[in-house]
Amino acid sequence: MVNKSEGLHVLVVDDEQNIRDASERILTRMGFKVSKASRGDEAISLFKQEGHSIIFLDLKMPGMDGMDVLKQVRQMDEAALVIVITGYATLETAIEAMKQGAYDFISKPFEPDQLRIIVNRASEKIQLKMEAERLAAARKKTLFDLSTEQSRIRTIIDSLPNGLLVTNKNGQVVLMNPAFKQLIEIDPAKGIGETIDQYLPVPGLCDLILKISMGRYIDYEDIPAYEFALSENKYLMAKGQPVLGEKRECLGAVVNLVDITAMKVFDRMKSEFVAKVSHELRSPLATIHEQLAIVLSDIIDTAPQSDQQILSRAKEKTHGLISLISDLLDLSRIEEGLICQEPVPVQIDTQLKEIIKFLGAKAEAKNQSLTLEIQEGGLTEIQADPLALESIFGNLITNAINYTQNGGNIRVVADTVGGNVRVRVIDNGFGIDDKNQKKIFERFYRIKNEKTRYITGTGLGLPIVKELVQSLGGFIEVESEAGRGSVFTVLLPVNK
Ligand code: ADP
Repeated sequence: MVNKSEGLHVLVVDDEQNIRDASERILTRMGFKVSKASRGDEAISLFKQEGHSIIFLDLKMPGMDGMDVLKQVRQMDEAALVIVITGYATLETAIEAMKQGAYDFISKPFEPDQLRIIVNRASEKIQLKMEAERLAAARKKTLFDLSTEQSRIRTIIDSLPNGLLVTNKNGQVVLMNPAFKQLIEIDPAKGIGETIDQYLPVPGLCDLILKISMGRYIDYEDIPAYEFALSENKYLMAKGQPVLGEKRECLGAVVNLVDITAMKVFDRMKSEFVAKVSHELRSPLATIHEQLAIVLSDIIDTAPQSDQQILSRAKEKTHGLISLISDLLDLSRIEEGLICQEPVPVQIDTQLKEIIKFLGAKAEAKNQSLTLEIQEGGLTEIQADPLALESIFGNLITNAINYTQNGGNIRVVADTVGGNVRVRVIDNGFGIDDKNQKKIFERFYRIKNEKTRYITGTGLGLPIVKELVQSLGGFIEVESEAGRGSVFTVLLPVNK
């Protein structure tokens, strides 16, 4: 319990010494600090020096009248509580004193308990007042801090070079910084509050933001970026993310918009260069490869074993180079947007069957089982480029065969989730550790370890797959554990 007398200073003003001394004794025992005055003027000068919280004031004193003391004290400090000490017959004066702002009164002669009760009440009031003032100050400070913080965040958001847009769960824009307006070339004075499609002339992106806002992507760790061209010389990239509440409920979306024009121009130049070089190299390399094959078959019975080995290695290397070149050409075709331009209806189950039939021999050579499971009654027809699908699943199943030990199992499972076709390529092979799982989608990245050492490849298969899946409007993700196997999941929208 709070000690009510703690730190409080009391002044007893009375011309009767026994009242002063008795009050002092009682109050000191209660823990108050006590000063005494026998006259009004003495009381005023003591009050000026010591600033008491509670004053017991006799109204009838020789010299300066108690009422005058009361008035002066009230003028100097409204918070000080004055308890007037009155004689028997001076109730009216006490009432008058109360009118003048006295807090309470006590009649002479009084019992020690009466004094205790009255001083306790006064000190409780002071403590409560102090507590209320402390709370009010703390609240004021919090509000001040909050508004400083808000204006600081606002300034940061407004001065960001990237565009920033926030929607609520209905897809209405609740925040849009100046950079966003500038990037999408809308009137800087345009206010917020309307739905996203009133600001963005890009239906695909509006649709994505709306879905994110409504909570459709809560469980996606990495929602892919959406690239679009606003004009021939302006390319933008938007990345959206759901805003989650305390219970992981979706409150809306936040969208970050970046100008990638310079990067696109540079990328285009790089692709053109790579495509040109690759094109120039492809025919001579193919010729060398064919000629090596002819020479090898001609000398099979005559040339020494060591010469045949040298030529075989040269043939393998040229084959590797040809694969690299065709992967590079594929990538530049995807980047130029030459793939997936005109989607047609494709029966995904029929296509998967054909790919599996084609790759069956490769799996058989490693004694692996390669099976296809298709969910009954699920969606199977999608709008896509069949060549892109062939490349996506061809690459994934070839990888599963390559990076699974002899005798392993590879399952291709197709079903439907949330209006998307989902195809999973599942193997029980080498698996991929956590740190490599993100990197395998980077160009030329290959995992080098004892198991993969003798497996040839370009490190371009998965980047091609990822680009193709994205250009079909889908997602790819991998779950894997080293030593246990991998699951590559592809989600494709039924209508791109
Ligand atoms: P490549 O197969 O030509 O090396 P990819 O881009 O297709 O290139 O794959 C990159 C790397 O990812 C591979 O080198 C391999 O280490 C790893 N990888 C891909 N698929 C699998 C899989 N199913 N199981 C284990 N590792 C895989």
